[in-house]
Amino acid sequence: MDTTASERVHCLIIGSGPAGYTAAIYASRANLKPVLYQGIQPGGQLTITTEVENYPGYPDGVQGPDMMVHFEKQASRMGADIRFGLATKVDFSQQPYKVWIDDEKLIEADAVIIATGASAKWLGLESEQKLNGFGVSACAVCDGFFFRGKEVAIVGAGDTAAEEALYLSKLCTTVHMFVRRGEMRASKVMQERVQATPNIKIYWNTETEEIIGEKKTEAVRIKNNQTGETQTIPVSGFFVAIGHEPNSAIFKEWLDMDEAGYIKTRPGTSKTNIEGVFAAGDVQDKIYRQAVTAAGSGCMAALDAERYLGEKGLH
Ligand code: NDP
Repeated sequence: MDTTASERVHCLIIGSGPAGYTAAIYASRANLKPVLYQGIQPGGQLTITTEVENYPGYPDGVQGPDMMVHFEKQASRMGADIRFGLATKVDFSQQPYKVWIDDEKLIEADAVIIATGASAKWLGLESEQKLNGFGVSACAVCDGFFFRGKEVAIVGAGDTAAEEALYLSKLCTTVHMFVRRGEMRASKVMQERVQATPNIKIYWNTETEEIIGEKKTEAVRIKNNQTGETQTIPVSGFFVAIGHEPNSAIFKEWLDMDEAGYIKTRPGTSKTNIEGVFAAGDVQDKIYRQAVTAAGSGCMAALDAERYLGEKGLH
């Protein structure tokens, strides 16, 4: 590893979703001269969604990728130094904190804001990939509205799947819910709510074989893994709710996390267990996971970083 190419920065932001860019806007305006590394998917999860109708300030809705271009432009106009590159290793043992980009460039930072997000898990079917954005979605709150008055399917059996099935049941005529085992993982109260909702139809021991459609989702073929019986159900939307994976692997050695890898922050703040290292957005939030909540927590992280640098006499 080439550690000779090192650069000292005041405030380093890792990640380029709503949390990272909002942190960059606030940090720039506070004159923290932030440097932001975008990661492998500049713009984050919103760049793989279509229309966003629930982000305040866009009365006519906005395409997810366009919205992230707006975020980036705003951060850039405020003076953030936005760069392409992936953080591959960190050393938080002492100040200044070390972060390696693309395994070669070393950045030394007084404060670090982690906004690396999370990635939705997918089933791994070819048809799922092909129809992603064309009826296939991993976010009912983002996309459910487009299927109002229609039949949809959802796969998963945890709290997210239960919550999303309930959300969809208020918009859609029928929600077909595919559970791969004979029981659900979701909390009891959520299971009871799902089972008491007349337009949610649960299929136990059921796996998805294929999502059918050329240009848009038209049906789904499922298989009962006990009997081997298959059936095809016409649906317009197919929601995958089998969990998310926070992008936190490189921080494992240093930061407190829950069992799923979400970074723990002190309640009501963006502070991690290491002073001067802050976390914002989906990498520390498994509950809300919305663009607007991620943006809000990015703002918190920049304000926390500003206060920290001031208290340490570094700003
Ligand atoms: P979980 O990991 O809890 O559940 C994932 C579900 O998807 C499981 O039921 C699992 O089945 C199923 N699954 C996984 N892979 C496949 C597959 N290939 N095919 C079919 N089904 C599959 O993820 P969640 O996102 O639901 O929740 C994550 C955490 O966040 C949990 O701790 C949850 O309690 C919490 N949460 C809390 C909320 C709240 O408090 N309001 C809201 C949302 C989440 P199996 O059971 O067979 O393994």
